[in-house]
Amino acid sequence: MTVNNIWVVTEPADGTFTTTSLELLSHARTLSSNVAAITWGSGATLAAQAGEYGATTLYDVGDLAGAVPGVPVAAAIAALVGSGAPDAILIPTSYDGRDIAGRLSARLDRPVLTNVTGLHDDGGLVTEHPVFGGTQTVKAHFTGAGPGIIVVRAKSFVAESVGGAPVSVVGAPVGDTGATDSAKIVTSHVEERTGPKLEEATVVVSGGRGLGEASQYALIEETAKLLHGAPGASRAIVDAGWVPYSHQVGQTGKTVKPTVYIACGISGATQHMVGMKGSKNIVAINKDPDAPIFQIADFGVVGDVHKVLPALIEALKAHG
Ligand SMILES: Cc1cc2nc3c(=O)[nH]c(=O)nc-3n(C[C@H](O)[C@H](O)[C@H](O)COP(=O)(O)OP(=O)(O)OC[C@H]3O[C@@H](n4cnc5c(N)ncnc54)[C@H](O)[C@@H]3O)c2cc1C
Repeated sequence: MTVNNIWVVTEPADGTFTTTSLELLSHARTLSSNVAAITWGSGATLAAQAGEYGATTLYDVGDLAGAVPGVPVAAAIAALVGSGAPDAILIPTSYDGRDIAGRLSARLDRPVLTNVTGLHDDGGLVTEHPVFGGTQTVKAHFTGAGPGIIVVRAKSFVAESVGGAPVSVVGAPVGDTGATDSAKIVTSHVEERTGPKLEEATVVVSGGRGLGEASQYALIEETAKLLHGAPGASRAIVDAGWVPYSHQVGQTGKTVKPTVYIACGISGATQHMVGMKGSKNIVAINKDPDAPIFQIADFGVVGDVHKVLPALIEALKAHG
């Protein structure tokens, strides 16, 4: 191994690390035996999970007192770098992750590699980035001294527990952040959801423009519910205002890798497929036999979603 030391920004959420954080920790430990997690909030309570997923140390920025994480977390990481820089700092692609990356880049005067979906050691860290709607992959690496700041997309790696012991927790002081820290979170809104999270569901049922109108999305929601899955969408119907952006699968939406992905009335544009082509089994329902989605489907139904989905719903209900 040529990589000595990797730090991973591990975002806390509801008393655990986010799934993307665990994916990054799991992959980091395949690249280095020296992996530190950096978190905030009630970090000390996550020492067991950090060890379980391969970290050797947990840096805890502590309670942020309502601050937007980007400012204090970037300041704390920059201070840690001052007393010993890692080869790379891996950060999840999330709103806070991107904010931390940008601020850290300014503090360390180091560039950031974003939209990373692959990372390996080839005499130094090499990143992979999908381009042209996911049809090509570009490889990149940092030159010059100092830690590489790498922002990684969700579902790029698999989160795997190695059952390590709880790690030691080291405080990571924020220091003086001046006026940059004056923005405070005064309220937060959790979007209501009944089933599993789109990114974590084992079954995803997605609808596209072929549904015809917004009200027909109810067919997608009902099918997803009966399959204990999550409803997704193409960008066409997000842009049309039929469903919120949080449902979008694809290049500018979420990446999903469920066991079963059912694409209903979705043509299969490369920008959509890049977000779901890693699914284990792809089912497509489309009335056009030449729709590109059939090229990657394991099982295709050439038919009208308004006939196929009600029949599927009826069959699922009959099945109990
Ligand atoms: C920079 C960029 C980023 C993008 N990011 C994304 C992204 O993240 N996610 C994304 O999804 N798209 C993205 N897009 C848009 C993408 O290029 C497509 O426009 C979009 O995916 C098309 O959505 P769709 O398949 O629902 O609609 P369409 O392409 O219009 O396809 C509708 C399909 O429904 C079928 N159909 C019609 N009626 C029926 C029926 N009754 N029964 C069955 N089938 C029927 C048609 O045969 C057709 O194949 C992006 C585009 C750009 C330029």
